[in-house]
Formats: sequence, structure tokens, C-alpha cells
Amino acid sequence: MSTLKKPMTEKQFRLYDSLSRKVKPLITAEPGHLRFYTCGPTVYSYAHIGNFRSFLSADLVVRTALAIGWKVTWVSNITDVGHLTDDDIADATGEDKMEKALRSKEGEQFHNVWELAEYYEAAYREDWKLLNLVEPDVRPKATQHVREQILAAEELIEKGFAYETPTGVYFSVDKFPGYGKLSGNTQESLRKGVRDVVLDENKKDQSDFAIWKKDDKHLMQWFSPYGWGFPGWHIECSVMARAYLGDTIDLHSGGEDNKFPHHECEIAQSESLTGKPFCEHWSHTAFLQVNGQKMSKSLGNFYYVRGLMAKGADPLAIRFALISGVYRKNLNFTDQGLEDAKTNIDRFRRADIAVAEALESGSNGADTVGAELEDLYGQALDAMLSDLNTPIAISKALEGAKIITRETLSLESAKSGERFLNLVNDLLGIVRHPEDMVMVEESKTSTADEARILERIEARKAAKVAKDWGLADSIRQELLNESIVLTDNSDGSVSWSST
Ligand code: AMP
Ligand code: ZN
Repeated sequence: MSTLKKPMTEKQFRLYDSLSRKVKPLITAEPGHLRFYTCGPTVYSYAHIGNFRSFLSADLVVRTALAIGWKVTWVSNITDVGHLTDDDIADATGEDKMEKALRSKEGEQFHNVWELAEYYEAAYREDWKLLNLVEPDVRPKATQHVREQILAAEELIEKGFAYETPTGVYFSVDKFPGYGKLSGNTQESLRKGVRDVVLDENKKDQSDFAIWKKDDKHLMQWFSPYGWGFPGWHIECSVMARAYLGDTIDLHSGGEDNKFPHHECEIAQSESLTGKPFCEHWSHTAFLQVNGQKMSKSLGNFYYVRGLMAKGADPLAIRFALISGVYRKNLNFTDQGLEDAKTNIDRFRRADIAVAEALESGSNGADTVGAELEDLYGQALDAMLSDLNTPIAISKALEGAKIITRETLSLESAKSGERFLNLVNDLLGIVRHPEDMVMVEESKTSTADEARILERIEARKAAKVAKDWGLADSIRQELLNESIVLTDNSDGSVSWSST
């Protein structure tokens, strides 16, 4: 029996909360059940590796929660309408990113904006799988929830938090005293020019933000009490989070740029609608940089998963490189970092193969690695529970892989090795890709076959020594039937080849 036991712990999961600005225990409303919302991509293009850095932080939260025996309900949306080009710097300005993409060179391949959204959503799901992220329970699309978004706008108007203008429906920031609590961008600071606001004479206050935009020329439009138009980006996430996770959720995550305005506006809308706290814990991932620079198309350092793979990158190594730094600090993605990641991924693969072989043909003997591996896994888990300290967790996992490959494993040691690698893979997703399982299975089969052929060769030798020529010939024939040809060498040895 392996000495490693499944960790059933009462451990605390400590995570930095952007709202209280401290690392604190992640508390779930229902004990042991995390209700978690992650802002997904706007599907106007391929998701880049920066986007994936944020999604990977969320994936690691889920894996860590599962590792301590929690149940997780994870919702990550798809934004397929209403995210405007200048939304991040000034409210409701610019073009819808989806429409702009359709008009671009790349957009020419699509018949319409719906087809474009479908294509990039499928690509995003593929990349998600390639980077070995856990599948969320629900991936709602903004366009599937427009009815609830219109109802939310109506309710906010009814309750006095929003108002209609000739251009849309706006949330009145004045009516929500807590505005600014997440980002520090209070209405007062906004008025002092912290954020560019659109000068729109229809708004009561220039820091008010759009819930609904009237636009009967928009390519994706719905009919509402305010005529034809489309929803604001922020109301989409408020509505989808509530639809699947309830009025108050335990944790909400996104990239650092989501803090303001997106998440600040989500809080204002949701709390005005329900009168309850929207979310108890907020997690934001710092931006990914590439070779020390901001990722940008004009600098030519804008990486997609498929682009890196076309240049020969191993998807698991991309994952490794993206999670190798602490999520709250900027990470610099470099070619060297990706190469190092590949070296480390190969260490896990070698450990995995060593374990598979020893499970097949390992000799009896004491478990010489179980205690060390148990200890290392415990340290890796503790590191993850301590605000997702991936550098430490990964180093403990690598130490374990080294122990597994340092000597020929007995069967008992192999069982401990297998358990360690499975636990590490569940926690960090860097030992093997689901598709690697085929490789390991194949390697197991060939090892097993080889052992059996050698055993038949030995049996034939013994038959010859006993002058049982009939048996010796029948063994040769038996292997020949499996296309294995035996050659009797002049030095008395026997070699075999497969035809
Ligand atoms: P978007 O498709 O722009 O809505 O972004 C999807 C997610 O990726 C959001 O949570 C962003 O905050 C996050 N994100 C965008 N760029 C980066 C980056 N360079 N590094 C980390 N996260 C990012
Ligand atoms: Zn969102």
C-alpha cells in the first residue's frame, strides 16, 4: 500500500482580497462549497496568453479548493456583445469590439458578427483545453441573457438607481455611496479627472455609466422598452453571476484591468438590485508582459497559444511558464522562460514514465520514497493555500519528480510515486495533459510486451538446454505469429525484431 493518503483537511485557503486589500481566508457562504465567477474573454479575436494568465489563476483557485475537498461551482462567461473599444478608459465610448473586428482584415472571412463570435469562442475553448484548464460548470454567453439584462435595467430605473436618456439607460453613481470601494476611484476622484469620462450632455453626472445603449444601427441589437439597442458590458456580468450563483457570491476574479470600471460597476448595479453584498472576495491577476514589454500588436509581441504552438511550443510548457510566477506580480514571459518550462515539464514526464514502468515490472521491496513525497505534496498544497504561491508549489513538485527518478523504483515506491504525481497533477495541471495519457498507456504496453517477449526467449533457451527441440520450435513459431522474429547470434545470444 502507498503511504500517501488523500488529504482531507480543514485547512484555510488564504487569498488576497482586492476589496479589503489584504490576504484573508476565503470564506464560503455554504461551508465547503465555493461559488466562483470569473470574467471570461470578449470573443472578437483569439484570447492571448495574457488573458490566459488570468484564467489560469482562476483555474488554480479551483484546483486548490478541490484539493482540500471543497465542492466548486465555477461560472466563467463569454462576452459576445457590448464591450466597447474605449470602455476601459471612458464610459460607453468607442465601437463594439465585435463590430470592429468584423470590419477588420481578419473579419473578412466571416459572413456576419455571429459567425465571428462563434469562431473565436470555439478557438478559445480549444486553447483552454490545450492549456489544461479545468472546465467551468457553466460558460454563459452575454447574448443568451439579454432579457435578464433588460429586466435589470427596468428594475434599476424603478428603484431610482438608473435613468433613461435619448442615448441609453445610465446608472446614477450618486445613488450608490459605495461606488469606488474596490478601485479607489470614487465619484469625487473621477470628477477630478482620474478617469476620462465621456462628456455627454444627456448624463446627469459625467461618471454615470451605461446599462443600455440605444442603437438601431448596431449589428447585434435587441428590442427593449427603450427601443432597439444593446446591453452595457458591466450589466452582463452582474446578471450572469446572479443567474447562476445567486445574489451573493463567494469569489469573483479577473485581470487587474477589470477592477475598474468593470468590477466597480458590477458591484454598484448588483448591490442596488438586491440590497445585499454582491461578492465577498475579489481576486485580480497582474498583467503579463512579454520580453519585458507590454503585449501589443504593434510591438509584434502579441502571443496566442496557437501561434506559440506553431513555433513548436509544448502547450503544457506554456501553461507552466504562465503559472510560474506569483499571480499578484507582473510576469515577464520570455523565450528562455518557455524553454525552461519545457525542461521542467519533461522532468515530470520522465517521472510519470518511470512510475508506469515500475508499476508494470517493479520488484518487491520497501517503499523508499512515500514519506518524502507525502511531505513534499503537503508543502506544495500549503503553498497554494497561501495566496497561490505557485513558485514554491512548483519547486516542491519538481523535488518530488527528482526523487521518483533518482533510483529504480520498487512496486511499492512506484505506487507512492503514482499517487504523488496524480495529486500534483490535480493541483497544478503540469504533470501530464489528458492526451499524454495515451502516450503513457502506449509506453506501458510496449514495456509489458517487451517483458513478455524476453520471458518467452528465456523459456526457449531453457527448452534447448533440456533438448526439448519441439518446445523450442513452438515458442519461435508462437512469436513469429505475432510478427516477432528471433535471431540466434554466433555468441549464443538471441535477439529479436518486430516486422
Ligand atoms: P477581455 O477579452 O479583454 O475581456 O479580457 C479577458 C480577461 O483577460 C480579463 O479578465 C482581463 O482582465 C484579462 N487580461 C487582459 N490582458 C491581460 C494581460 N496582459 N495579463 C493578464 N490578464 C489580462
Ligand atoms: Zn465581467
